[in-house]
Amino acid sequence: MSPQGTGLQEIHDLRLKLQEVSDEIERGPRQIAARQKLLEKKKAELEARRTNLKQLKVAADQKNLQLKTNEAKIRDLQGKLNAAASNREFDALRSQIAADTMANSVLEDEILEALEGCDSAQNDIKDYEQEIATAEAEVAKFAAGVKEREPGLKTQAAELQAKVADIEKMLPADIVPQYRRLVQSYGARALAPVHGTACGECYVGQRQQTIVELRAGKFIFCTCGRLMYLAQSE
Ligand SMILES: [Zn+2]
Repeated sequence: MSPQGTGLQEIHDLRLKLQEVSDEIERGPRQIAARQKLLEKKKAELEARRTNLKQLKVAADQKNLQLKTNEAKIRDLQGKLNAAASNREFDALRSQIAADTMANSVLEDEILEALEGCDSAQNDIKDYEQEIATAEAEVAKFAAGVKEREPGLKTQAAELQAKVADIEKMLPADIVPQYRRLVQSYGARALAPVHGTACGECYVGQRQQTIVELRAGKFIFCTCGRLMYLAQSE
């Protein structure tokens, strides 16, 4: 391979590595944000469950109040029963008391069921609170890891950038503006290895003359725009 080819391959490899490191730097905060968003969603769900529990408790309280009211009514009817003036009135009061007592028995069952519902919702909330606490700790740990890796990655990126800049000094001045535009648009993929005779980026076959010129160390852009070099094995 020509020294130019070797240099371009080196630039390509370094730029690919640089891209990888830059991607990792960018990915960290994005991953943290995604995890935090999920956590917020869980917290909102917890609030919804707490509201639901409050409503269940209110409903149970209302039933309880209804029961107390009915019991007072039954006591009142019993007082009237003792003072009943006629058999007819006595029978009417007795069947009223029986009906109300039956209704209260149903209400008592409903209250028991409502309280069980509250207990179950309460336990469910406790479990969910635990789950959220665990998730919160995990997000914090993940964020700390990202923060810890960041300075090292940034140093690595700066070193790669310096190395690339150094090797890029080999590029002839007349191709530099075009090369810079390419890097701006395609990043590491501004360069393409040629395998056999095909451009590694667009797979278009190059003329034999182009291959000969590449081998001789000429700087040639493919029709897809990329700066080509012969792959190591060629
Ligand atoms: Zn191409």
